[in-house]
Amino acid sequence: MSETSPRLRAELEGIPTYKPGKPAAAEGQQAYKLSSNENPYPPLPGVLETAMETVRSFNRYPDMACTGLMSELADRFGVPVSHVATGTGSVGVAQQLIQATSGPGDEVIYAWRSFEAYPIITQISGATSVRVPLTSGEVHDLDAMAAAITDRTRLIFVCNPNNPTGTAVRKAELERFLDAVPSDILVVLDEAYREFVRDPEVPDGIELYRDRPNVCVLRTFSKAYGLAGLRVGFAIAHEPVAAALRKTAVPFGVSQLAQDAAVASLRAEDELLGRVGVLVGERTRVLEGLRTQGWTVPDTQANFVWLRTGDRTVDFAGVCEQAGVTVRPFPGEGVRVTIGEVEANDIFLKVAEAFR
Ligand code: PMP
Repeated sequence: MSETSPRLRAELEGIPTYKPGKPAAAEGQQAYKLSSNENPYPPLPGVLETAMETVRSFNRYPDMACTGLMSELADRFGVPVSHVATGTGSVGVAQQLIQATSGPGDEVIYAWRSFEAYPIITQISGATSVRVPLTSGEVHDLDAMAAAITDRTRLIFVCNPNNPTGTAVRKAELERFLDAVPSDILVVLDEAYREFVRDPEVPDGIELYRDRPNVCVLRTFSKAYGLAGLRVGFAIAHEPVAAALRKTAVPFGVSQLAQDAAVASLRAEDELLGRVGVLVGERTRVLEGLRTQGWTVPDTQANFVWLRTGDRTVDFAGVCEQAGVTVRPFPGEGVRVTIGEVEANDIFLKVAEAFR
């Protein structure tokens, strides 16, 4: 693309700049990154061992069909292997879903604020974003989303739990919504943070997809499984959708390292989910700490919390950075703070208290 269209430029300018790398801590100070919802734990020794084996065959292309990982996922979730598709991170799969379903003149509905990739990948496809504001309680307004459907709607994202608010929609309302969506519209349940959900009322998308051919569930190895740097995500959907995803995947887009580490992680799931349990405990501690300090924080079912800091957002993020924790500011709105190591969470709580 030689020139950026004014519409795309405006869209991109509204997106906060991503700052890669480590936070700039003062000399001698430990720096913690709480800005990308990553898992603070390093890879398990067994996963590393597998990865070191794979490193030896870097002269070879990966298994293009992700055969081993696909069958492991099918077993794990009790679905036919034909209902599974893997991709370059779940954002890669989301991009494929949009490209496969939507183009100029079509509409893609999602809540706002939600995952920042939705407007970007919608724009890239040439389709039009239809953003439906969250309720005042920072939750998806599914009735308003249903009301936003037109004959141009092709795809709807429901981010559950929602990034960046951490809020989740409940089973009864989600089922009611899915029943109201015409069957030729694809509903993507983006469950990147599913393993952190503890509210029993929040449905497992994989149960909802089973008798709904127009529902596609997105999951990732980047969060609970701690493989963000390896870029591997997957979709579970009925055959036509999953087959379309397999056909439109970037050839060799999931490295052998990613495939083997993902399989090793599934096999070490008990240990990894134990770590998730610790993070969920920390989440409760951070949430309660913030509320005791007087902050209004929505209930979160993900590995982050959302603080409405309004006009003070950039200042607040700056103070956090100086204290050695990088958080994710959404200027004028709020900050999203990943639950990290105990020490990192402690620093953040201290900064939040002083800033309040
Ligand atoms: N969906 C949501 C809601 C996310 O927050 C993220 C990561 N920030 C992703 C998808 C993408 O994750 P990945 O591409 O690493 O699988």
